[in-house]
Amino acid sequence: MIVNALVRQALTSAQEVMGENGLNAVLRTSGLERFISNFPPDNLEPSIQASQYSKLNEAIEAFYGRGGRGMLRRIGKASFQYAVREQAALLGLAGIALKLLPEKQRIKFILNSMAGALKKSNPQVEAWVDDDSGERLAYMESTCGICYGRESDTPICHLYVGSITEAVLWASGKEHQIIETHCLAKGDPYCRFEVGEVRE
Ligand SMILES: [Zn+2]
Repeated sequence: MIVNALVRQALTSAQEVMGENGLNAVLRTSGLERFISNFPPDNLEPSIQASQYSKLNEAIEAFYGRGGRGMLRRIGKASFQYAVREQAALLGLAGIALKLLPEKQRIKFILNSMAGALKKSNPQVEAWVDDDSGERLAYMESTCGICYGRESDTPICHLYVGSITEAVLWASGKEHQIIETHCLAKGDPYCRFEVGEVRE
């Protein structure tokens, strides 16, 4: 299950990026008409199944065709901004000052915060930060709701890539490349997002 607060975050961000008509169209094609002009409240009550959430992601990608990937990334970026603005307590950011920490620690902090917020929203979520494999930090989730039940030859969690890109920018002040190296939809045991080079 995905909780109200996260569905509200996704719908608000999607509407910001796609406009109301665009969002309404994909809500219809993904069987989520009930949310048209009727976003769920900002609480941790169960809202929709992961399969419905992944259908919404698929519908957005299909709606924009070749531009779908970029659109989902933009929605992901807007989602993180929304979370900082409206859900700072859930993310554990209230009163936090990262300035004095080295960059890697700052990035690690925000990725841990994202994993923690997801786990707070649903104890069944398995999300964590991997700092063991060489130099690169990676954010991992084995219960990803974005690709739940989908199959693909290539990674498809573009909305997640957008959120993590924005989170790392928030923490470090620099836009790093985020690469989804593994994806449940490809048959991997988890979705893995690697924090790469700074984008020039
Ligand atoms: Zn995924």
